[in-house]
Amino acid sequence: MNKFNLKNLVRANVQRLKPYSSARDEYKATGDAMTFLDANENPFENGVNRYPDPQQRELKLTLAKLKNLSSKQILLGNGSDEVLDLLFRSFCEPGIDNVITLPPTYGMYKVLAEINAIENREVLLTEEFQLDVKSILNSVDQNSKLLFICSPNNPTGNAIDARNIKTLLENFSGIVVIDEAYIDFSSYESWITFLDLYPNLVITQTLSKAYGMAGIRLGICYASEAIISVLNKIKPPYNVNELTQQKALERVLAVDEVFDEVEHILKERNSLLKNLETINFIEKIYPTDANFILVKVDNASLRYNELLAKGIVIRNRNTQPLCENTLRFTIGTAQENEKLIEALHNLDN
Ligand SMILES: *Cc1c(COP(=O)(O)O)cnc(C)c1O
Repeated sequence: MNKFNLKNLVRANVQRLKPYSSARDEYKATGDAMTFLDANENPFENGVNRYPDPQQRELKLTLAKLKNLSSKQILLGNGSDEVLDLLFRSFCEPGIDNVITLPPTYGMYKVLAEINAIENREVLLTEEFQLDVKSILNSVDQNSKLLFICSPNNPTGNAIDARNIKTLLENFSGIVVIDEAYIDFSSYESWITFLDLYPNLVITQTLSKAYGMAGIRLGICYASEAIISVLNKIKPPYNVNELTQQKALERVLAVDEVFDEVEHILKERNSLLKNLETINFIEKIYPTDANFILVKVDNASLRYNELLAKGIVIRNRNTQPLCENTLRFTIGTAQENEKLIEALHNLDN
């Protein structure tokens, strides 16, 4: 049974912590023309001479409207990777606590567990890349703080069955983190609408994939106000820089452009899926809800190197559990996808 109690999950040092108060935290412009002599900045304007808003108010307000949430349910980070790291540092006591990850999946969960000296308990997905709920619940103990579910999953591409996620939300007394980096490509709904129902639900998204802004590094965490305020206590004061805030705001305000691009990528995904069926050495094409396709081939390392020699870089996922001899193709432009198919056709069968 779920005995979720946020107080019991937060590390003692984080509970005791009094956060650093930056100049821009202590005094934020109210719209009046104020004279700022508080932060030892260079006074000559160049667009970035002032510290950025530590709470990214405008960007969060815009995201909150788009997602039908409150700004207090949002935390922004330097990529999802920073958001995920903040979760580890808020809830997991080094050398004592553990997290549950579900390979084959995104590699950063494991790396962050290792960096933070947290035991990583791995429970494999099923052959269909779905959750083995029984084994997951069997691997949990009272020190299991975080459970990472990536949906749609990287590198497999499929979305995770919603009923199984519900079972875990209802039975895991730690925090369930659903990584929705690829949600905008998916026919499945985001879990954001369930935030009020499940106090132990955390959702991460990013501007790196569908939003086309991997270069600016903006990761997003959606959760209860209570969880967000814990993360806010330990985040670096100016973790999202001014240029990133500006660029992200422009993009989120023009979200229809993003949706158009996603639609285009999904059309390309369909035609690439069809064309991949004509390649002899591709033995299996896995179902995808993301902007990439995982395939099983005769010899992944051989095919990877052959494509590389033709100037095409893909991802070899051969060493991932349950992914023997698999390759992952990102959906590119029509021209790039044609180049890929042509190159595949020209390899020896
Ligand atoms: C690409 C990806 C991310 C994005 O990370 P950022 O740090 O926001 O660029 C997060 N999760 C998964 C599963 C990904 O594949």
